[in-house]
Amino acid sequence: MMSSRQGPPEKMMFQLTLRRRGISDQAVLRALEEVPREAFVEEGDRADAYRDSALGIACGQTISQPFVVAYMTEQLHLRRHHRVLEIGTGSGYQAAVLSRLAGHVLTVERFRTLADAARRRLEQTGCDNVEVMLADGLNLPAKIGPFDRIIVTAAMENIPENLTDRLETDGILIAPVGPHHGVQTLVRLVRTKSGLERKELVDVRFVPALPGIAREL
Ligand code: SAH
Repeated sequence: MMSSRQGPPEKMMFQLTLRRRGISDQAVLRALEEVPREAFVEEGDRADAYRDSALGIACGQTISQPFVVAYMTEQLHLRRHHRVLEIGTGSGYQAAVLSRLAGHVLTVERFRTLADAARRRLEQTGCDNVEVMLADGLNLPAKIGPFDRIIVTAAMENIPENLTDRLETDGILIAPVGPHHGVQTLVRLVRTKSGLERKELVDVRFVPALPGIAREL
């Protein structure tokens, strides 16, 4: 059951904070309003679900800060028909937000525990256009893709060609690029007919993207 602490006043503050920090896309704001973040955090953190902060989840990973989720989503300029790839399912929260704005979302995670829990949460919250896959996002099988949009939610030292190759013309990829432990820069790549256009956006902190399926659960 939801406690009164998660009632409308807290959700109203949540929206206000996002607007104040510069999120202006109405569809993105609505998506964040509609997805129950308390369903994606650990049970003991439900009271903090609508605070603008990252929180710990299983396997030593994190659910991103709502502002960062909103900002990255806004930068993707999603349309209803888009096919989206997310690297780093984590809790499934970002995927749930994407599912409200895109046609289909494939999200990949290297921890089985996280992939299974996220799949369950996404089902419970009615996100039936999301597919969760246990896979290494740094080494995806060639047959996967192409995509209109790619969002990476784990820090990469550089963006592998194995990912940019899956981006359609006019496609957008967004990823935190930089050292694994420290501050990264959110980078946006747009595939034009003549190549990739690169823009650096804001500083962020993400857990690292690591190779291979995790050996622990
Ligand atoms: N988007 C998530 C937060 C991501 S945290 C959310 O909304 O909750 C980053 C996630 O990326 C972690 O769960 C981590 O296990 C995963 N990850 C790291 N490297 C990966 C890789 N190579 N392939 C797939 N997932 C990876």
